[in-house]
Amino acid sequence: MAENEIKNYLIMHGTVVNATSSRKASVAVADGRILAVGDLGPGDYRDFLIIDASGMFILPGGIDPHVHLSLPTPAGPSSDDFLSGSNAALAGGTTAFIDFVTPKRGQSLIEAYRLRDHEARQSACDYKLHMGISEWNQQVKEEVVQCIHQLGIKSFKAYLAYRESIGISYEDLKQLMKVVGQEGGLVLVHCEEGDVISHMQQKFISEGKTNAAYHALSRPPATEINAIRRVIGISRETSCPVYIVHVSTAEGAREIRKAKESGLKVFGETCIQYLVLNDEVYNLDKESSHVLPYIISPPIRSEENRQLLWDELVKGAFDTVATDHCPFNLFGQKDLGIKDFRKIPNGAGGIEYRLSILHNFGVKQGKINLEKFVSLTSANASNLFGWGAQKGQITEGYDADILVWDPSNSSIISRSHQVQSCDSNIYEGIRVEGRPAFIFSKGKLIEH
Ligand SMILES: [Zn+2]
Repeated sequence: MAENEIKNYLIMHGTVVNATSSRKASVAVADGRILAVGDLGPGDYRDFLIIDASGMFILPGGIDPHVHLSLPTPAGPSSDDFLSGSNAALAGGTTAFIDFVTPKRGQSLIEAYRLRDHEARQSACDYKLHMGISEWNQQVKEEVVQCIHQLGIKSFKAYLAYRESIGISYEDLKQLMKVVGQEGGLVLVHCEEGDVISHMQQKFISEGKTNAAYHALSRPPATEINAIRRVIGISRETSCPVYIVHVSTAEGAREIRKAKESGLKVFGETCIQYLVLNDEVYNLDKESSHVLPYIISPPIRSEENRQLLWDELVKGAFDTVATDHCPFNLFGQKDLGIKDFRKIPNGAGGIEYRLSILHNFGVKQGKINLEKFVSLTSANASNLFGWGAQKGQITEGYDADILVWDPSNSSIISRSHQVQSCDSNIYEGIRVEGRPAFIFSKGKLIEH
């Protein structure tokens, strides 16, 4: 992937699609920004290279609000670093992403942020970082306020799972939400009840049920649904806006939709894996090597749930469709847990396919229109996470993060031609229609 030298472009004969409207228009790009949108002709833009977008859509570049590049784990870091992961993002039309700072207990949030940001600077596209909260005490409380007012970080992520390392209790979450709510920020929550899951894991292991398929069985739907209900209750009590990450259950999604309808500031995110895969991937008759790539948390659910999750998406439960992109190699990482499912690093890659998959299974199948597609893949994440005056729209003055989207290009997803760095691909063999024909990142044409 290389950057083209020419800086100015006139994208003509396409249909510009934003979250609230679509129209036939041309887009002029100069110096990394959108210079003009409208009925533009080459006469007024003489030095501009013309891009023909006939039959195509001109969309704001995707924003993935939930990714984990180079995530440190006992099985080594996730297999995409900031360079390979950002190149995979760009290849699929995602021109900005949000990763996480995950401070260790006892470590200063500000210090952890500086280290993580240094690492992230190798990214080939724009990024931001959410701040993780892995404990609650006076110092953390003071640093949360500093993050908001000095670093401009307004989104904080808490885990109810993984209590042994980074997870916190409902009571600590409530204290965090009181402070963040008062200071005008937003709290992201991983809703899975860690204590219940640990108990079930112990039980399976003691019964000799150690293979990968038991990972999913130890995290039943109720562990997510109960956590979502309680977190919505805390949001109501503290008036703190909350964003529930990677919702996998339709019932959890329904709770979020009802909370929205009652006027609460509750936002929902689901991920492509929950919309296109079902729990057949965990079939106990399969060999572990076929199951290991799909070990993610929360796990992939039943076919019935998958269909109901789409219904909830259509009804408005979700603000964003993300990936939770966090690939690990099958050989040397995932297989460390072949005899004990608790040792399998949790996560899978998807950033390269998010737009094509949502386009194919959402837009092409008539479930959502292109405006909603733009809301879910770009505009809403931009507004929620502080890019609202800069990204997520094809509008004069905005960053030239632009896709010329070919809705009928057909391709089959395969590890053999993927950009992400991983020895497996959970979407192998899936045919998708729709992909970017041209990708601009801050006005630069990305070759792919
Ligand atoms: Zn995640």
